[in-house]
Amino acid sequence: MPLYVYEAKDAGRSCDRCRGGFEVTQSINDARLEACPDCGAPIFRVIQAPGLGHSKTDLHYRAKRAGFHTLKRIGKGEYEKMY
Ligand SMILES: [Zn+2]
Repeated sequence: MPLYVYEAKDAGRSCDRCRGGFEVTQSINDARLEACPDCGAPIFRVIQAPGLGHSKTDLHYRAKRAGFHTLKRIGKGEYEKMY
């Protein structure tokens, strides 16, 4: 079943779960979620590029999940923190 990522529309009305995005496994026939199952805040589905494991969104998301910041290399030995 496909894995979808949802994120709070409004960070001011979100809980720890939906603020940074969370994954939901849904059948393609299931209706998309519109509210966080934990706090009921409005959420939206993050568009994932299927099969593109190196998309910016995916990397950013995985980095956040892992507790790392995404770093962009800006020069020799220099990195810029993107998030
Ligand atoms: Zn929530």
